Amino acid sequence: MPNFASVALIPVRSRVWALAGGKQEAVSSTAMKCPHCLVEFHDEAHDIELPYRGPRLVERVPNRSYQIVWTAQTRVCPACGRAIITLVLHGWDPNRGNYLQFVQVWPKGTARAALPAEVVDPFASDYREACNVLADSPKASAALSRYCLQRLLREVAKVKPSDLSKEIDEVLASKTLPGHLAEAIDAIRAVGNFGAHPLKSTNTGAIIEVEPGEAELLLDVLEGLFDFYFVQPAIMAKKLAEVNKKLADAGKPPLKK
Ligand SMILES: [Zn+2]
Repeated sequence: MPNFASVALIPVRSRVWALAGGKQEAVSSTAMKCPHCLVEFHDEAHDIELPYRGPRLVERVPNRSYQIVWTAQTRVCPACGRAIITLVLHGWDPNRGNYLQFVQVWPKGTARAALPAEVVDPFASDYREACNVLADSPKASAALSRYCLQRLLREVAKVKPSDLSKEIDEVLASKTLPGHLAEAIDAIRAVGNFGAHPLKSTNTGAIIEVEPGEAELLLDVLEGLFDFYFVQPAIMAKKLAEVNKKLADAGKPPLKK
């Protein structure tokens, strides 16, 4: 039986605190998108161990001999000046070995561009909900987004109801989407590894493990499709209505439909 307590702590600590020379604060540099203003930036994240009755909080897992250590990671976005705070769980388990789990505590959720008024319910409300839960549960966010995408394809793109993968095939085959959107909607299946997770296609609202970036990609695709199906047609209809008004004012017949 290995000594889990030491296995759990030493490798994780050395990974995080190597830069700090054994001090309880470490600095690491990573690229990230600011959850407040969505600008991409490179910043040094400061990691500090959370104390509890002494220098370090150690969480013991019931009936197990290994421990969990928590750190707090702070960043400041150079573009908007807002703080980003993430709690990091440094854990170990027999199946995964050392692992890190990140919980973004500030801000709650990721800012996304506000939805234009042309985007109607239930699509708008499903999308907002998927944005709101993204930080706490990418799995739940991806499930809401997949469900919303399927509803959009069925009700607005008018594909024949089937599983999501076939519905995506049908909308791609119709060649109605602009190239960049077709490519992005196609990528959902590859990024989400639908081959290994068929439930993502057959039961779109199911809460299933997500791949890195999958939940964010789904939201990006929804935004693009909303623009294509709701926003751009509304803008064009408004412009044509203005032309027809000018024609009517000039005593001429309206544009042919
Ligand atoms: Zn920012």
